[in-house]
Parts: sequence; structure tokens; C-alpha cells
Amino acid sequence: MNKHYAIAIDGPAGAGKSTVAKAVAKTLGCYYVDTGAIYRTLGVHFAMLGIGPKDKDGITRLLGDAYIEVKYTQEGEQRMYLNGEDVTGELRTPEMSDYASKISALPVVREYLLDMQRQIAKEHNVVMDGRDIGTVVLPDAEVKIFLTASAEERARRRFLELSPKHPKLTMEQVLSDIRQRDEQDSTRKIAPLKQAHDAVLVDTSELGVDEAVAEIQRIVQEKLK
Ligand code: C5P
Repeated sequence: MNKHYAIAIDGPAGAGKSTVAKAVAKTLGCYYVDTGAIYRTLGVHFAMLGIGPKDKDGITRLLGDAYIEVKYTQEGEQRMYLNGEDVTGELRTPEMSDYASKISALPVVREYLLDMQRQIAKEHNVVMDGRDIGTVVLPDAEVKIFLTASAEERARRRFLELSPKHPKLTMEQVLSDIRQRDEQDSTRKIAPLKQAHDAVLVDTSELGVDEAVAEIQRIVQEKLK
């Protein structure tokens, strides 16, 4: 396929976005862009500077000091660089989830990261996942999918993913974090998490990974035909 295209996959935390987005990108041979990782990288920046996620003045003042780059390994794996340093290994922690969710509600932060995301999609065919890709970042994306699942099922998946590295974490804590993030992401004034009017809704609560991937692959093939 030669035509330039973008596939937007939005939805709440733990719906399976990254799993299906990676699989689709692999099938199509295009880039997978995890935009949550970009917000998390900014979270690392502020945490390193001792700026709390609610310190709006500090964030506004020091935002411009964060030089963020998205790079890809030869195997196509996304790596995140902050001021020249690979910080990919620091991103998927409950602390950075909270940082990303809080700072991403600030218009100044969203504006700062918008061009970078659009630029990647301009240069490459992409499967991009996030919260506002189909609504704000790439409103003209050829395919838009809104992937969701019940909060309980999403918490169960997140718990399985995080518990090996965070043995003290409890299921209750993960569910409560997920509910809090849903609330923060859906109620913020700017670019809230919501289904684009032209996105296809897929609920993965009752689907296994392979079934979810197959369903999205089917929708993508159909739309890109
Ligand atoms: O997708 P992930 O869970 O890594 O995203 C972390 C946080 O970053 C989300 O809870 C959300 O607040 C924010 N985010 C966003 N817009 C995106 C991607 C992530 O606001 N496109």
C-alpha cells in the first residue's frame, strides 16, 4: 500500500490500545506511535526538576526546557528521549501515569506536544494511539477507532502488566487509579477523552487479545481498501 494514511486509536487506559495498535502497525509495516509515552516523558522532566504535577506555574515556566524526541529501533520499537537521554524505561510507572494524566489537562502542555505528533504523522504512515488523536491531533485520519472496556476488566489487565515489577501493588489500587484517570481524562476542558463522531466503537471487555486484534485488523482493512 503506497497511499499516505493515518490510523487513530483512542480510548481509556487499559482498553488494549497499544497491543492492537502494535499488531496493526506490524501487519501494515508502518510506525506505531504511543502518544501516552510522550506525555509521560514530560512527566519525567518535571519529576526530575522537582516540579509537582499540579504546579501550573512551574510547568509553564520549565516546559520549554524539555527537548523530547521519539525514535525507533531497527525492530520498530518506540524509544523516548528527554534532552538526549533515553528515558523509555522510566515511563510506565503509576507515578508517571498520574503525572501524565494531570499535566496533560493543561492547554499549554497539549499545545507544546501537538506539532510533534502531527509532524510524525506527516512524515510517516502511522498507527497512533492516545486520547484525542481522532478528535484533535489527526482529525482527518483515514481510520478512527475508539477502543474501550469496563473499568474492572481494564484494571485486571493493568494489574497483570504491572504486578511483576511492583509487587506491593493491589488490584483495588489499580482500579481506583484507573477510575481516577478516567475521570481526569474525560472531564478536562481541553481535548477530553471522547469518541470522535466518525470513529468505530470497539468494546474489548469480552474479547481475548487475538480476537480484539482480529476485529481491529478487519476494520482497518475495510477502511483502507
Ligand atoms: O496512554 P497512557 O496511559 O500512557 O497515557 C498516560 C496519560 O497521558 C493519560 O492518562 C492521559 O491523561 C494522557 N494522554 C493524553 N492524550 C494522549 C495520550 C495520553 O492526554 N493523546
